[in-house]
Amino acid sequence: MRTPPAVYVSLAPFREWFRGGLPILMYHKLGPRPRRVKLKGLYVSARRFARQLAELRAAGYRGATLDELPAALARPERRIVLTFDDAYVNVLVHGLPVLKQYGFPAIQYVVAEAIGGRNDWDVRQGEAPEALMDRAQLREWLAAGQAIGSHGLSHVRLTQVPPARAREEIFASKKKLEDLFGVPIRHFCYPYGDWNPAVRDWVIEAGYASACTTAFGINDSGASPFELKRIQARYPSFGLRELRRRLFG
Ligand SMILES: [Zn+2]
Repeated sequence: MRTPPAVYVSLAPFREWFRGGLPILMYHKLGPRPRRVKLKGLYVSARRFARQLAELRAAGYRGATLDELPAALARPERRIVLTFDDAYVNVLVHGLPVLKQYGFPAIQYVVAEAIGGRNDWDVRQGEAPEALMDRAQLREWLAAGQAIGSHGLSHVRLTQVPPARAREEIFASKKKLEDLFGVPIRHFCYPYGDWNPAVRDWVIEAGYASACTTAFGINDSGASPFELKRIQARYPSFGLRELRRRLFG
C-alpha cells in the first residue's frame, strides 16, 4: 500500500488506507488567513472545507462521534471523526454552516480558561492572534448539535509542568466546562499533542472516555481510546515535492 501524504487535503490518496481503521481529521482554523500568519497550514478556506466534506459525503462516508467509541473503532467502515482544536470563532462562522449542510458532527476542544479570549499561547511564540469562541458562541455551537471537549485550562505542555498543575489542567477544565455549559465533558485533547503515560492515566482517572494526540495515523480496532491518532486536514501547499510530482509524475 502506498504511504498516504502526511496531511489530508482530499480523499483520493487516503481512500485505501482509510479502510484499515477509523480516521480522525484534525482541523484548527477555517476561513480567510490574516496576513503575517506563520503556521499557514492551520487555516483551511471555507471553500476547501466544503469540498472536503462534499467529497467524503459523495464517497459514502458518515460522521462518527467520539461518544460512539469503542464501537466505531470496531466497525469503522466509512466513518470519519472531525475534530477542531482550540475553539476558534472562525470555525463557528465558516464551519458550522458547512457541517450543517453536509450533516457531519464535529467536536471542538475548548481551552477552558481562554473562553472568549485569544490564542495567547501562540501569540507568545510570534503567531498572529485569533479570537476564541465566547460562552454565547459555544452555546450556539452546542445548540446546533455539535460537541465540545476539553483542551485543558490554559494550553500548556502537560509533561512539562509539575504533576499537580497537569492534574489541575485535566480535572478542573472538565468541571469548569460542565458547570458552564451543562453538558458532560467526555473527551480530552492533549495540548501540542504532548502526553506521557502519567498524563494519560490522569485523563482516565478524571473520567474522560477518550483523548486525542497529534500523532499521525488512523485508529484500528486495537487502538487505545486515550492515544487516538489524527490526520491534519489542511490547505494544499505547493511545495517542492508537489512541484516535482506534477512535473515528472
Ligand atoms: Zn491546541
